[in-house]
Amino acid sequence: MRKIKTLPAMKCEEGCGRCCGIVPATETEYQRVIRYAKEHDVNPQDQGITCPWYQENKCSVYAVRPIICRLFGHVEAMPCPQGHNVSIPEREAVRMIRSNGKCGRVLHEVLPGWNALFAARFAKATEAQAQEAIPPASRDPSIP
Ligand code: SF4
Ligand code: SF4
Repeated sequence: MRKIKTLPAMKCEEGCGRCCGIVPATETEYQRVIRYAKEHDVNPQDQGITCPWYQENKCSVYAVRPIICRLFGHVEAMPCPQGHNVSIPEREAVRMIRSNGKCGRVLHEVLPGWNALFAARFAKATEAQAQEAIPPASRDPSIP
């Protein structure tokens, strides 16, 4: 595996976390995060779509966060919603991701029963969307 080069510095707002959602990671990155969390006594939190490691207004595993987290705000495809982007050439980002390895994990997997949890949430959201599409009189009142 090639060493990931240092990314240019960019401003990141304290307590923002808007890019901390469902994050893909390689097996190595995933295990590194788990190991770091154990060593630093950090426990994952179930907070829906938000990353389980975003805690107390910051990344609790910042030192070992995956490459996708580090690339946020550096490529057009992953812009910082707060506008603090410092772009690198796309081909460089692609090279970094490729040389980092295959992303076969997501950080949310650390949560017990995350599959069932997300399946239920997405099903509910989809159902709510479908309800939006039909006339109010025919909607299921149990769906908000
Ligand atoms: S990169 Fe941007 S969106 Fe992400 S936490 Fe920092 S300021 Fe917020
Ligand atoms: S690992 Fe850290 S930087 Fe990456 S999404 Fe989670 S909280 Fe955000």
